Amino acid sequence: MNSFINSFFQLFYPKYCLSCNKPIYNNKSILCESCYSQLSFTYYSSFIDNPLYEKFIGQANIEYAFALCYFYKGGILQDCLHALKYKGRKDVGVFFGKLIGNELSNINTPIDLIIPVPLHPKKEKIRGYNQSEMIAKGISKVLNVPINTNDVVRTKFTETQTKKTKWERYDNLNGVFAIKNTQTFANKHLLIVDDVITTGATTVSLIELFKNIPNTKVSVACVGTPDKI
Ligand SMILES: [Zn+2]
Repeated sequence: MNSFINSFFQLFYPKYCLSCNKPIYNNKSILCESCYSQLSFTYYSSFIDNPLYEKFIGQANIEYAFALCYFYKGGILQDCLHALKYKGRKDVGVFFGKLIGNELSNINTPIDLIIPVPLHPKKEKIRGYNQSEMIAKGISKVLNVPINTNDVVRTKFTETQTKKTKWERYDNLNGVFAIKNTQTFANKHLLIVDDVITTGATTVSLIELFKNIPNTKVSVACVGTPDKI
């Protein structure tokens, strides 16, 4: 939209900050300046052996791992991700995806294909979309890299995992994902995208699928990760 028309439109239909609900006049943001400044950015893109990367050592072979922000219970980021998952705010995913894309554009390892962590088709139908795919869209726009949503599927409908221990989660996730067409991924550097990575168990089980495909490299990016991992 033309910026003049856009500002004119915004004068009458201002957007509201997703967290504090004050009007915002920057049409590219979802948060007011004050709330945005309270997001806790990790700056992990400037060091490859960051705590998220270290979490995967010994569990999966990855090129790099990136988390945009630290995730705190009750924090601004939690409001944002809740809106993305449960309130139909797809734009929140695209917004954070673009921020991730900007960070990753500084890393000197080009990505060939973006893979959002798939939801079970039943769950995606209920929600209307896959929140990780919205994040992937934002990354894709900035890095100009395609997204693949067709060749990896979630085959198990897992119950919510928040109350389980780490070992139970591994067991539960065993055989959760499947690949339809391995050829799609050969000789490519893949970027797996999720909203939040906590134990990394989901991501590890997804990375397992690509282990035996010739010359495939895998990296990981997410919006939020706990600060103590
Ligand atoms: Zn605000």
